Amino acid sequence: MTATIIDGKAFAANLRERIGAMAADFERQAGRKAGLAVVLVGDDAASQVYVRSKGKATLAANMESFTHLLPGDTTQDDLLAMVDTLNANPKVDGILVQLPLPAHLDEQAVVDRILPSKDVDGLTPVSTGQLALGLPGLVPCTPLGSLMLLKDQLGDLSGMDAVVIGRSILVGKPMAQLLLDANATVTIAHSRTKNLPEVVSRADIVVAAVGRPEMVKAEWLKDGATVIDVGINRLAPEGGAEKGRLVGDVDFAGASERAGAITPVPGGVGPMTIAVLLRNTLVAAHRNAGLSPPESL
Ligand code: NDP
Repeated sequence: MTATIIDGKAFAANLRERIGAMAADFERQAGRKAGLAVVLVGDDAASQVYVRSKGKATLAANMESFTHLLPGDTTQDDLLAMVDTLNANPKVDGILVQLPLPAHLDEQAVVDRILPSKDVDGLTPVSTGQLALGLPGLVPCTPLGSLMLLKDQLGDLSGMDAVVIGRSILVGKPMAQLLLDANATVTIAHSRTKNLPEVVSRADIVVAAVGRPEMVKAEWLKDGATVIDVGINRLAPEGGAEKGRLVGDVDFAGASERAGAITPVPGGVGPMTIAVLLRNTLVAAHRNAGLSPPESL
């Protein structure tokens, strides 16, 4: 069997276009644009690339973009003061502090300071609690994007066996929560799980969010399973190349002979993250302006 390749890049491009149109409607209704603020501390090259592309995507979706680049030696108090300023700014609907922060800063305390109504990364204790309780809130972007791809591929997920490998706050836990809300039967696997291949072999849906290159092998998979590979791992450069290849947490070549559908890396889950960030910003903007977010968001 040869798997359907789930084209996250195309799905995300379509979503961004729809969000752009809805953001223009929002501007007409609210009399202002939706706004996303991104804060980056330090000069990590990869983070700078992410922050730039988030800024561009925000503008392209008819929203206002505020980028704050702070020096690497910014103090905790100064960073908290920046978050307070953005919390108080009525033009800012969403606040994203680019993680990881330099080691001298307390990440959790910074995230906790973001108003839940502007928490477009969905990482504050309030957002996390809302997700657990099934209340409307803001959900972390990568898992929500992964769920969108799954629903697009499979339709109703009711009763399906899903295995999520990884239990981080950013991906694994919220992913499991979303699958549970969608009525899947969910198993969360992690580094202490016994006999992972056997656990994975039962799954109709496998979400891999581990951070280990090509760890999930084709022979672990049930025939026809749907595989969402969240992992982004860069291999060591080969043959004089400057950069190594990007691979996921799943052995893509093998798995695509066995799975029913699979996301590639790159071009699968990755592009969904920014699209959902824009979606979350527009949802937050509607709520902040006292409007109901469009059903189709
Ligand atoms: P974390 O490092 O926070 O979590 C990794 C999880 O994998 C942990 O729960 C850990 O278990 C588990 N794990 C580690 N080793 C094994 C093992 N041998 N068997 C089973 N489970 C294991 O990573 P993140 O969740 O933040 O990210 C996961 C991956 O997704 C990374 O490659 C990251 O780059 C990528 N990512 C991609 C995004 C995108 O936009 N596509 C966005 C965010 C992340 P334990 O808890 O027991 O330690």
